[in-house]
Amino acid sequence: MAVPKSKITPSKRGMRRAHDALVAANPNECSNCGELRRPHHVCPSCGHYADKEIVAMVDDIDLDEDAA
Ligand SMILES: [Zn+2]
Repeated sequence: MAVPKSKITPSKRGMRRAHDALVAANPNECSNCGELRRPHHVCPSCGHYADKEIVAMVDDIDLDEDAA
């Protein structure tokens, strides 16, 4: 139920906001390259997951090359 802003005491507002803190991410080290990566996600730096290469990474992309 909506409660007017003026009726909420600073204490009640603080109690509500006590649970609003952001939780820090919990990165793991990649077993292939050692870079930090999110758990259960493909490593963004080497493309490996569970010791297998899932995404082939390109070292450098030449944007000047004619793609057409
Ligand atoms: Zn990696």
